Amino acid sequence: MQIIDRSAKTLLLTELVRGLAITFSYMLKKKVTINYPYEKGPIGPRFRGEHALRRYSTGEERCIACKLCEAVCPAQAITIEASPRADGSRRTTRYDIDMTKCIYCGFCQEACPVDAIVEGPNFEFSTETHEELLYDKEKLLENGDRWESEISINLSSEFLYR
Ligand code: SF4
Ligand code: SF4
Repeated sequence: MQIIDRSAKTLLLTELVRGLAITFSYMLKKKVTINYPYEKGPIGPRFRGEHALRRYSTGEERCIACKLCEAVCPAQAITIEASPRADGSRRTTRYDIDMTKCIYCGFCQEACPVDAIVEGPNFEFSTETHEELLYDKEKLLENGDRWESEISINLSSEFLYR
């Protein structure tokens, strides 16, 4: 009986030492967690985050109201209305995205012939109400103005694959 007890104790001690060794080895390794939201992980240039409508450097809207993004959207999240301007160019009078329908597939961005609608790097746009996620043209253009520098860097880094 005593022999069994002794071998059980040895086994327990061995496991304890092994467990401690693993614990100490992880204490010396690089942390795999980050202290979000104070620290943030890297985001790839193809990250598909919050939508934005972009402008040219002149301030003119890029969107030419072709409605390709609206047609391709599998979630039917985009609603566009358009009319011609006095100078004959066509622009949207309404550009809405229901962000609660969007599945972040990126098809709208891929379909756009002028890189107007894009999914930018912002992933921190949670809201408290449904209404706040019903984006209109003004909100989307604001997003474009806010994130333009990051978006243009990301798009140019991907030019070979587009
Ligand atoms: S990312 Fe996809 S689902 Fe969302 S608006 Fe664009 S096309 Fe529609
Ligand atoms: S965002 Fe692009 S694809 Fe959509 S209507 Fe405007 S120009 Fe066309």
